Amino acid sequence: MKRNLRSSNAAKSSLTKTKQDAAKKKTAKPSTRPPAKRKSAVAAAIPAHSEDSLTRCRWCTSDPEYMTYHDEVWGVPLHDEHTLFEMLILEGAQAGLNWLTILKRRDQYRQAFDNFDPAVVAKYDSAKVSSLLSQDSGIIRNKAKVASAISNATAFLAVQKEFGSFDEYVWRFKPGDSETGEFVHRATSAESVAMSADLKERGFTFVGPTICYAFMQAVGMVNDHEPACYRYSEVASG
Ligand SMILES: [Zn+2]
Repeated sequence: MKRNLRSSNAAKSSLTKTKQDAAKKKTAKPSTRPPAKRKSAVAAAIPAHSEDSLTRCRWCTSDPEYMTYHDEVWGVPLHDEHTLFEMLILEGAQAGLNWLTILKRRDQYRQAFDNFDPAVVAKYDSAKVSSLLSQDSGIIRNKAKVASAISNATAFLAVQKEFGSFDEYVWRFKPGDSETGEFVHRATSAESVAMSADLKERGFTFVGPTICYAFMQAVGMVNDHEPACYRYSEVASG
């Protein structure tokens, strides 16, 4: 989990790619789940943790963006409406793909989707859909996923109307404290199944139990950092 401090920005992508591939091979993670998304403005900055000796979750490769996401975002309780919407859409966009694929496009996603303002996204017309599906949008060009983002925006607005906020609504699916027993890798939970069913009933799509569980992990409804990971206790203690 260390990376090359010396790579220049220009050389970074190719270098990182090679390292990434190597890391991927090495880490052939078994049933580990891909984390939910989110990255901060890492950009070209070399994170301070570059060559630290911290133990991280096994799914976290040495890719700098992945590390920053793991260290700063994943599992931290999130309550901002637009970001919750963003996470929901990105988790759905990830379906069938590697999370890093989405993470590396996060800025393009934000740009393409008007910073994930559901009120704006809900009004997208066919011209906007065409532009989203064009080569230069920078997002994963998948018709069903793009259509889902738009209809999910409408459903999201309805939830906000009914509950006051999506935050208020979705956090009701947080498992009770008694659930925090021993650590197990899982892809779904009773709560993610319930959340998925409820979202589907409200017209959301790309919200299966696995996607919902990844969402719950990402936005901190569960703390799934591995016990050996240095973030485990940090996140647990808030
Ligand atoms: Zn971790």
